[in-house]
Formats: sequence, structure tokens, C-alpha cells
Amino acid sequence: MTDIAATLDDITRRINRTAQSGGRRGSDITLIAVSKMQDDARIDAALAAGMRVFGENRVQEAQARWAPRRDLDPDLRLHLIGPLQTNKAKQALALFDAIHTIDRPDLVRVLARGLGDARAKEFFVQVNTGEEPQKSGVAPADLGGLLDLCRAEGVPVSGLMCIPPAGAAAGLHFGLLQKLGRRFGLDQLSMGMSDDFEIAIRFGATHVRVGSALFGARAG
Ligand SMILES: *Cc1c(COP(=O)(O)O)cnc(C)c1O
Repeated sequence: MTDIAATLDDITRRINRTAQSGGRRGSDITLIAVSKMQDDARIDAALAAGMRVFGENRVQEAQARWAPRRDLDPDLRLHLIGPLQTNKAKQALALFDAIHTIDRPDLVRVLARGLGDARAKEFFVQVNTGEEPQKSGVAPADLGGLLDLCRAEGVPVSGLMCIPPAGAAAGLHFGLLQKLGRRFGLDQLSMGMSDDFEIAIRFGATHVRVGSALFGARAG
């Protein structure tokens, strides 16, 4: 097992250095520790090292892992970074502080109905920057329409999220997301993973989602 405290230190240093070289502050960037499919010992090591912001991509798995811990630690912040089915929306709104994966009208409408007593306050629209048929996210051409619907339904979107296609030059996709953010007046950008978070920060990422570089390879 890797030394998670030392790795966290190293990643934080890299975030700070990259932010500063672009005239930003490291504290403007939120590191989300992606804990999906990692075993509990690694999660506990990250918690012991002071990490409090975690990302999960499945509602059920996150509920089992985090509901008990969240009761013990009011500082925990949970981000949903995986696709959300409408029938899990209510549960997601109650468990997560942020949802990064709004990508279609029916989900917007269901989330809007549940906002009243929701924990979740931060919302991102996922953009399928590579226009890959198998990937979730709204096509760039349909983003404006979906954001209009979010506004009409009262879902407060603060930013955009993307996952570049495997093997693609990530910078092209981060640059596109940055451009879309500017066009629509959204200053939060959730982009960058283990292999490319420094590139993402150069393109304005405010949230980087790092899993394996922090915790080691995932099970399964
Ligand atoms: C799994 C996952 C990550 C983390 O990926 P790593 O390459 O392990 O850093 C980030 N974002 C999303 C949406 C993911 O599903």
C-alpha cells in the first residue's frame, strides 16, 4: 500500500505549484479524492491525513461507505461524479454536497422537485466534449438549452464538468470546457484526473478529481 499521507502532500504541492505558475492560488482549487472501489483502509488513511473532500460515482456504494462516516464528521464533503439515474436522484440530493453530472432534461426536472430539503447545493452540468456516443454528458451544442432549463426549474448550476475521451489530448477538451464556461458565465470547472490534473489547472480547473494517483489502483 502506498503512503497516502505523503502522496496527498505531493499532489497538493503539485496543485499549488501549477496554480501559482498560472497566477492563481492553490486554495482556489478543490482536490476531490475519488474513493470509488477503494478499500476502507485507504479511505481511513486519507481521512487521517486530513482529506475531507471525496468523490464517488455510484450512489449505492457511496451511501454504504459514507453515511455512517458522515454522521461522525460534519466537515466531510461528498461529490457525485458518476452518472445519476432519476430514480436515485432523491437519495443523491440527501447524501452528496455536490452533483457533477447533470446531463439531461428529465434529470433536471427531478432534481428541481427535490431541492427543498436537499443537502446538495452545488451543481455542475457534464459536457460530452468528445461527443462520444457511449458517454454521458450533454453535447456542446445542446448545453445552452439545458442551462436554460436549469434556470427555469431553479437548479442553481455553478459550473461545468467533463471527462476527455481516453487517449485524446486532454488539453483540447479542457480548453473547450473553459471556453463554454466563459460563454455561459460559469466559473467553476470540474476537470482533470490522475494523469492530467495539472493540465486541467492550466485551463482553469477549479475542481480536480483524483483517484488512483492518490489511493493506488482500484479493485476490480
Ligand atoms: C474514476 C473517476 C475519476 C478518477 O480517476 P483516476 O484516473 O483514478 O484519477 C475522476 N473522475 C471521474 C468522473 C471518475 O469516474
